[in-house]
Amino acid sequence: MSGLCEGRVAIVTGAGRGIGREHALMLASEGAKVVVNDLGGEIDGTGGDLSPAQEVVEVITGSGGEAIANGDDVSSWEGAQRMVNMAVETFGGLDAVVNNAGILRDRMLSNMTEAEWDAVIQVHLKGTFAPSRWAAAYWRERAKAGETNDARIINTSSVSGIYGNPGQTNYGAAKAGIAAFTIIAAQELHRYGVTVNAIAPGALTRMTENLGMGELDEAGKEAMNPRWIAPLCTWLVSEESAPVTGRVFEASGRVLGVAEMWRRGPTVDPVDDPNEIGPAIKELMEQAAPNSDMQGAPITGPGRPTPF
Ligand code: NAP
Repeated sequence: MSGLCEGRVAIVTGAGRGIGREHALMLASEGAKVVVNDLGGEIDGTGGDLSPAQEVVEVITGSGGEAIANGDDVSSWEGAQRMVNMAVETFGGLDAVVNNAGILRDRMLSNMTEAEWDAVIQVHLKGTFAPSRWAAAYWRERAKAGETNDARIINTSSVSGIYGNPGQTNYGAAKAGIAAFTIIAAQELHRYGVTVNAIAPGALTRMTENLGMGELDEAGKEAMNPRWIAPLCTWLVSEESAPVTGRVFEASGRVLGVAEMWRRGPTVDPVDDPNEIGPAIKELMEQAAPNSDMQGAPITGPGRPTPF
């Protein structure tokens, strides 16, 4: 029986560990040929070692699958181009880019350093843009040459960004930026046969093991196993997902859902006198739905946006 992704060629960034590793293994088990990218660095983004990616490749090839390791930094312009070229040269084409690589440098805004801000924006936002850009150019060229694409970009957002989490202005801004990038790229690339979606995952990994999730009981840990994210990623890479684009999905062992984007809420007639703005905003606040917390429930509590 052929797999859901039989013959598809996919790049998975940050696939040496955590969620990306599960993506790569499941994609390969469903017949995809995988470029396993991983910098092999520390959680703060320093260092570089091909071994985590190589280990994943060995697991895949050991089970009869096809994979190749790539140690480029996703946020490197040339590195991202090399990664896309590697897929095309090794496997004869490219059908999907899964932008998953990420780092954390959590800090309250008032203490955050410039380096902490820059590193997170660099790896997440540029690290989503650069591989997507080279892949998009490849698919555009094919479309112009009369070839047909059925291609995918799958990005990684976060509830920290789309809903908000204290201590993560850098990370959340990058992840909300990735959600916006997803929506806009979906609109641009539709004409070339490319869909663009994002996943906001929840999992216990090296990234999250020090955030309190480690105190979960066995059932809680199982629900936060990163393998829960891979089925959605694998389906999005497959040809079955062609009608779905511009969406941000939430996935974990606790939930599979779709996030609804920013949309215009209540309105009042335009006001050209600052003295009249207060009553107009009061009316809007009384009607507006509350923001969402990270569990998808209406946000409440100290420091949260409250009714006027
Ligand atoms: P993880 O276990 O730390 O894995 C992240 C991977 O990204 C690592 O393999 C890391 O490689 C790689 N990476 C980091 N910087 C890179 C770079 N510049 N170039 C190439 N690879 C790089 O974390 P995870 O939890 O699986 O996170 C995967 C994605 O899900 C991230 O985008 C994260 O923000 C997102 N996410 C996770 C959660 C969660 O609950 N875990 C929630 C929301 C969003 P090395 O360490 O080997 O260098």
